[in-house]
Amino acid sequence: MPLQSTLIHQSQKSGCPRSRFGDLGSRKSRPPSVDPKHVYSTSRMIRILGTIFAGLLGLAFGSFLNVCLSRWPEGESVVAPRSRCRHCSRTLTWWENVPLVSWLALRGRCRTCHAWIGWRYPLVEAAVGLLWICATSRLFASLAYAINYPEGPIADVLRNLSEAVPLMLFYWFLVALAVLDAENLWLPDWLTYPGILIGLASTVAQEQFGYHFDTGVRPLRALTGQLLSILAAATLILLIRWLYWLFRRREGIGLGDAKLMALLAAWLGLPGALVAFGLGVVLGALVAVILLAIPAASTNTDGWASSLR
Ligand SMILES: [Zn+2]
Repeated sequence: MPLQSTLIHQSQKSGCPRSRFGDLGSRKSRPPSVDPKHVYSTSRMIRILGTIFAGLLGLAFGSFLNVCLSRWPEGESVVAPRSRCRHCSRTLTWWENVPLVSWLALRGRCRTCHAWIGWRYPLVEAAVGLLWICATSRLFASLAYAINYPEGPIADVLRNLSEAVPLMLFYWFLVALAVLDAENLWLPDWLTYPGILIGLASTVAQEQFGYHFDTGVRPLRALTGQLLSILAAATLILLIRWLYWLFRRREGIGLGDAKLMALLAAWLGLPGALVAFGLGVVLGALVAVILLAIPAASTNTDGWASSLR
């Protein structure tokens, strides 16, 4: 085989996005979209549109989460009736339900009774929106690449998709649990247990799809490792709980926290869960110091979440 065609053959076989050999390549096989300027603008467009889409989707699911966070503790249905003001019981119109925008337009108050809606609503919506943008950034980067270079590996897109979707779910669970714990000191089993199972399934599935093929880790080993991580993480919290009981003779840390720690380990592995626990302790101490320094802050929590459901 002549050198020129060997080089072309190799570059096509290796799935290179663009031939490194310039004009040596056959012009027929090259897609007309490989003009660098065009590629750059299409990539940027896909990434921008993808980011906007993920953000808007996050805002919508954050808005739904707000309804759940107000109704779950009351034992109410999250589907019916439609969202209403807790003070005047008026059903909200569609434009009062637009995430973030409605809150800003109404300046955080009910249109009729002027009751304060609360900071939780825009904060939860913004948090889910931003977290979902982070969760999907790699997916849209690989999608932009795959659209410009159809001969490139589509496996990257599928792999990033299988990583992004569970990550979005994980972030949604975390925001839900954080708010429920902060508002009601409540970490429901029907959220933590499914969270642990989904985390475990997602980690094992990612091993199966070849995330760590280079290290030779197989799904069964991953499952065993993750189960041990969950056990160790939950045991650590139970140990702290027991030690606290031993010295202070009262409950210092709830059983829900052990399940939350198990959930973190199922998704992040033991090292990640320990880092999250350490950060939680530091942040908790920081908030405690602030509350001790400003006593009014601990009693005045009305501004957080008061009037919609
Ligand atoms: Zn009202």
